[in-house]
Amino acid sequence: MRRLTRCLPGFLAVLVLLAGGGTAVRGESGPDPDEVTTVSAGAPPSHSGQPDPFQAYPVGRKQAEAPPKQDGKVGLVTRIKTDKPVMFVTVDDGIVRDPKMIDLIRDSKVRPALFLTEQYVRQDPKFFRKLREVGATIENHTLTHPDLAGMTYGDQRREICETADKYRPLYGERPQLLRPPYGSYDDTTLRVAADCGMKAAVNWTALVEDGQLRFQGIADQLYPGDIVLMHFTENFEQDLKAVLDQAKQDGLTPASLRDFLG
Ligand SMILES: [Zn+2]
Repeated sequence: MRRLTRCLPGFLAVLVLLAGGGTAVRGESGPDPDEVTTVSAGAPPSHSGQPDPFQAYPVGRKQAEAPPKQDGKVGLVTRIKTDKPVMFVTVDDGIVRDPKMIDLIRDSKVRPALFLTEQYVRQDPKFFRKLREVGATIENHTLTHPDLAGMTYGDQRREICETADKYRPLYGERPQLLRPPYGSYDDTTLRVAADCGMKAAVNWTALVEDGQLRFQGIADQLYPGDIVLMHFTENFEQDLKAVLDQAKQDGLTPASLRDFLG
């Protein structure tokens, strides 16, 4: 049943649902492009010599800001608008936890954003602390992984705020970014995310599964600013390799989402 509980997108068309007086977007293959808010990055950093492609973007150096809140809502980001040769790795849920993943993250020098569901974090918070120590950031993927679209403000607030509150003592800081489960959200989600202190809601432009990268729309490669969705699965090593091979082929370096949205 693991596969069914992951935020597993398919190739279905985006279904736009009306619920709760707002527009609900169910992002089975990513959100509706019309709903996408992007963020511009500043000038590229200067490099001397030939940098290691996976070390080109220094840790913790802010490159851009999250899109400003509008009407009390955070922006929904599916791609970072940037001309820098960067892409972003995100890993969701936290169902499968293998110590080998820690070495893989450390050795790859990828600084992924981990969108963790509290019900899995609770089972082994130390595992994710170790990932944080090797460069990952801990982000918000709700308490119980519900489809948020159409849920009441109070129920969405519990899912998003309580997760942030619980992660703070575990990891020394609150998460800054929300990934709505299944990529599904409505206006209330974006308002609650702002009220809970999140800086942006983040979906994706490509996903990897069983070692295969799948691109959104007609794309057949990664482009600067693309956000790739992975999961904590038994295929983690294979999936990570597929993502990094593709990034290299497309001349892109993995960068930390926090440096562009934090
Ligand atoms: Zn998920």
